[in-house]
Amino acid sequence: MTTPFKHAKVSFRWCDTCGTLILGDRCNSCGSSGREFKVSAPGDLRPCLGRGTEVVRSLFMKYFGTTAFLESKLLFLNKISGEDRADEIVVDGRVVGVLRFSLIKNEFLLELRLDGALLLARVAKRGVVTIDPPPGHLKGKNISGKDIRETKGSFLIEDPLIVLAGNLVCTGAARASSDKLDDSEKAIGIRDVGKGEIAISKKRTDWGDFVRANVSYLVVLESSAVSDVKSFIGNNPIPVTLSFSGGKDSLACFGIARKALRAFDLIFVDTGLEFPETVRYVQDFAKKNHMRLVKADAGEAFWEQVGSFGPPAKDFRWCCKVCKLAPLTSVIEANYLKGTITIEGNRIYESFARASIDFVEHNPFVPNQIILNPIREWRAVDVWGYIWWRNLEYNQLYDEDFERIGCYLCPSCLASEWRTTERIHPDLSGKWNGFLDRWAKENDVGKEFIAHGFWRWKILPPKMRKLAEQLELKIPRVRSDRIALKVVKGVSPCATGGYSIEAVASIPRKRDFARVADMLKTVGQVRYSGEYEIALVRTEDSTVKVFGGGQIVATGSTPERAERAFEASVKAFLRSQLCAVCRICAKNCRKRAITIGDDGPKVNEELCTHCGKCSEACVVAHYYDKLVA
Ligand code: SF4
Ligand code: SF4
Ligand SMILES: [Zn+2]
Repeated sequence: MTTPFKHAKVSFRWCDTCGTLILGDRCNSCGSSGREFKVSAPGDLRPCLGRGTEVVRSLFMKYFGTTAFLESKLLFLNKISGEDRADEIVVDGRVVGVLRFSLIKNEFLLELRLDGALLLARVAKRGVVTIDPPPGHLKGKNISGKDIRETKGSFLIEDPLIVLAGNLVCTGAARASSDKLDDSEKAIGIRDVGKGEIAISKKRTDWGDFVRANVSYLVVLESSAVSDVKSFIGNNPIPVTLSFSGGKDSLACFGIARKALRAFDLIFVDTGLEFPETVRYVQDFAKKNHMRLVKADAGEAFWEQVGSFGPPAKDFRWCCKVCKLAPLTSVIEANYLKGTITIEGNRIYESFARASIDFVEHNPFVPNQIILNPIREWRAVDVWGYIWWRNLEYNQLYDEDFERIGCYLCPSCLASEWRTTERIHPDLSGKWNGFLDRWAKENDVGKEFIAHGFWRWKILPPKMRKLAEQLELKIPRVRSDRIALKVVKGVSPCATGGYSIEAVASIPRKRDFARVADMLKTVGQVRYSGEYEIALVRTEDSTVKVFGGGQIVATGSTPERAERAFEASVKAFLRSQLCAVCRICAKNCRKRAITIGDDGPKVNEELCTHCGKCSEACVVAHYYDKLVA
């Protein structure tokens, strides 16, 4: 298997005789070793399904007036980086173009690649321009209107074009619309230049052909995963569960678990933000397959917390802990006294952030859960090939052009997927859009902040800052919420010796000051006055004063000590007010110094050693990093 991320291109093979991708060394149907072709790394190639194929077809029809070359063909997509959705389109074992979703235009665009131009040059009914080539190299050049001899069909600025120049075939983009070419010095921009023609394959294929061509490969893939699972479980007497999210990866894991194990349960976390199709699918699936379904339900947890935290962001997913981890820990505790080994469908290719996943991992927040990742090295095409080969019924949402299936308002959704949600579930998207509009008003950010998806980051990445520039919008680099930390005085020497730091935390007050004082016990020894709302915290090497109004002053013998005590106290303050009652801190305290009531944690000062582990595990404390960014 190819190692992801190291190279810019990744190789795959295509059998031209059978018209399909081959995943192993040879085509199972004809024995051919196929033709090599390359896609961009990491190469998590996936089949293009349902509405996705309609989107691709409509774009080729719009720009080049033909879809004949796509008829009865297997279409694959390969995700590449971009401001939103960006997928290389693979037809007949060639990257013919790139499908992009533009956040500025709020629509899909097509970028033609050279193989696409060589394939379509003769058959395209529009979007073809013939030029008298100017002397010298063409690649990267702008062509003046007076050098254009002929155009086929009309086009607009930025539309993709096939440019014919003598015996050369090029990809290009319109710099002027077709009715203004004559007056334009820069009428067309040339991108890539090639020669010859690629014949359109007459072979008609379906996904059944893809599976037949890859059976041997799938057999090996399955048996290796099955034997990994068997050999680990064989030595462990604790119950086995499968994390069943309703997505394709957990479905493939079901196929493996079914082969490897005699008994296991399905665990489904209903975050309260699932698509109705997913909830129905999971329930029906469990029933049809006679499986015990253990459901963890977050209920209204998201809506109860979103007012305090603000919209979840890609870089601040408080919702995952509140709506997933918290209910999950509770059902594991309630159903599996000795803990559980959970099979999960995590894959390396799925995330640029996770370049390695071990077969056995431990859930850092659930001490009695061991996680097995049997498909960690599978690519999406492997997963789909396996699902079809084993005839496993998948969630119908994949046919609606979702690449991943999760919560409907997830900040990690692509804007293009959000559009699909608006189409298929106007009620759900309306509820979320309504919240975002109210939040935008309260936080004094313009409508564009919501419309172009800026809300999805706490700290804007460069690509979104660039988008703001292009749209001529003034968007703050850090999203301002109702929670803020204003540093009054950075770390500086004190007149009385040592160093101090002072800030004011603005946090919606949900609980009384006794809670603040209680949580500060995780930092050090606490004395406090409820009447005056002042708490004094002493640690081995620092002191901190915390006031009900949010003022926090930390003093230490060195700048580092003052800063450390300050950070710990701000985190305790945040936790005391914003606690989502997820119970994770209690599970992570080895001294059992935390008990959780309906209103949040209580700290036993006799048992607490101020180790800070509870704060490390807390989603609310994590907010600190965003406040000081
Ligand atoms: S303080 Fe504990 S219970 Fe509250 S949100 Fe943090 S980890 Fe969860
Ligand atoms: S994890 Fe337990 S012992 Fe450590 S600071 Fe938190 S409450 Fe105290
Ligand atoms: Zn073949």
